[in-house]
Amino acid sequence: MRIDLHTHSYVSDGTQPPGDVVASAAQAGLDVVALTDHDTTAGWEEATAAAVRHGIGLVRGIEISCASDGISVHLLGYLHDPADAALLAELERSRSSRHTRAERIVRKLSADVPITYEEVLETAAPGATVGRPHIADALVAKGVVSTRDDAFADYLYTGSPYHASHYAPDPVTAVRLVNAAGGVAVMAHPFAGRRGRLVDDDVIEAMAAAGLAGLEAHHRDHTPEDVAHAEQMARRLGLFVTGSSDYHGAGKVNVLGENTTAPSVLREIEERASGVPVLWP
Ligand code: AMP
Ligand code: ZN
Ligand code: FE
Ligand code: FE
Repeated sequence: MRIDLHTHSYVSDGTQPPGDVVASAAQAGLDVVALTDHDTTAGWEEATAAAVRHGIGLVRGIEISCASDGISVHLLGYLHDPADAALLAELERSRSSRHTRAERIVRKLSADVPITYEEVLETAAPGATVGRPHIADALVAKGVVSTRDDAFADYLYTGSPYHASHYAPDPVTAVRLVNAAGGVAVMAHPFAGRRGRLVDDDVIEAMAAAGLAGLEAHHRDHTPEDVAHAEQMARRLGLFVTGSSDYHGAGKVNVLGENTTAPSVLREIEERASGVPVLWP
């Protein structure tokens, strides 16, 4: 069984509709795929229909943007109740703050490059979780840079003079919210240092104490040393490890199934969850 537990559609900053992500996963020969858009479950319904059509297993998930003392942490949540009021309230707060944050970034950028917030919104699907990749797409459309990667390298990296942050829950709070909603929490790319500053191990320990279930050890932004560190830490804290592609369609080079998760780990996720079931073909 080939299982990829981390992908994005245009409901956040991927480039394909949710149904197409699922179709692409089936075409790539995956047996199970998780849709984990940033801060929203708006793609779940379309993904479900596509999973049935294409005969592939679907794990409905989310990637929650968190911040710990200003340091970004991404938390994957699997199989939670999408209508859980406490979790929804946090996600809505964060998603709405992303709009004013994108406007702030664009305002700073517009002093040096031709770009407007309207042009950024044109690159995002209606209702999508707005992020820096959409600003990157607008910079590409204007011919300022030629790829998303270049936009991040030149203008949008964390720590850039044009950067601004948005409201995001503390990761320990987010772990509790995912669990309370019947979901299973896995810390995404915990040691991906090239994205910006990393939280200290004691934050991960606090997340584990709050009910974190796993670490995404196998991810392209990890060096072999990072993978070893994640595996060792998971053993010490009693967590499982996952592997996934973090596929963003044409928005990133990541290929579906480039990292995968063991079937035994998916079984554990399935057993622990009580929000929604895994959809099996
Ligand atoms: P945001 O959520 O708005 O802070 O933007 C973070 C998103 O940008 C993450 O989903 C990353 O996958 C994406 N991202 C980060 N660096 C790059 C890059 N160099 N090229 C393309 N996408 C990136
Ligand atoms: Zn993303
Ligand atoms: Fe992430
Ligand atoms: Fe992601």
